Amino acid sequence: MRKKIVAGNWKMNNDLNESIELVNEIKKILLNREDVKVIVAPPFTALDRVSQLLSGTNIGLSAQNMCYEDSGAFTGAISAKMLKSVGCEYVILGHSERRTLFGETNSDINKKFKKAISEGLIPIFCIGETLEERESGKMKKVIKKQIKKGLKEISPENFEGTIVAYEPVWAIGTGKTATPEQAQEVHAFIRKLLKEMYSESLSESTIIQYGGSVKPENAGELMGQLDIDGALVGGACLKADSFANIVKNA
Ligand code: PEP
Repeated sequence: MRKKIVAGNWKMNNDLNESIELVNEIKKILLNREDVKVIVAPPFTALDRVSQLLSGTNIGLSAQNMCYEDSGAFTGAISAKMLKSVGCEYVILGHSERRTLFGETNSDINKKFKKAISEGLIPIFCIGETLEERESGKMKKVIKKQIKKGLKEISPENFEGTIVAYEPVWAIGTGKTATPEQAQEVHAFIRKLLKEMYSESLSESTIIQYGGSVKPENAGELMGQLDIDGALVGGACLKADSFANIVKNA
């Protein structure tokens, strides 16, 4: 059985003091839960300190992005090695805000995926369609392209243990959530694609999170669907009690 994984993406919120406060509150409520894996993704500036505060707990630490280069003249970029050096285990790749606001392509995300794996980071690989793509009937085509290109030349051995996050772009930060049935339909489609690309056992063991306006009130029903194995949470993870309630409802 797949264990649920709930990750909180803090995005560009929380300075260092606010980050310390939030992670301390999360620790108080969620420390050492065995039934659900909890991950937090603070901004780069807080990773080192949050990592120290999480040391000895089973709460995982993720970055929100990384560069596919190792080092050099890439002003403003952060490498996988740097993330490892401050204790990151996970990295969110291909978030729709990176794709739409910063122009990241499927090919960039593929390079990042390969680099993350080679440095021992676990990608949380985000995919999802826009409202226009959904309404014009292109949803499955778009998801398939994101998966095929994002995972190009990723072997089964390297794909194993990584996390996929289905995040319909129209549901991110909008308050609109996919219905459990809508989300389940896409999750089942993703799992089928993974089976075709890899194998049934690999597809069955892959964690596919849902993201898009997940809140304590809708978390239980969404994560109760057969192929929804957790959540990637934005807005509702910025308050410890609402994040904790999402985890509890998982
Ligand atoms: C996200 O950014 O990954 C996200 C799902 O945001 P929100 O929960 O705010 O919709």
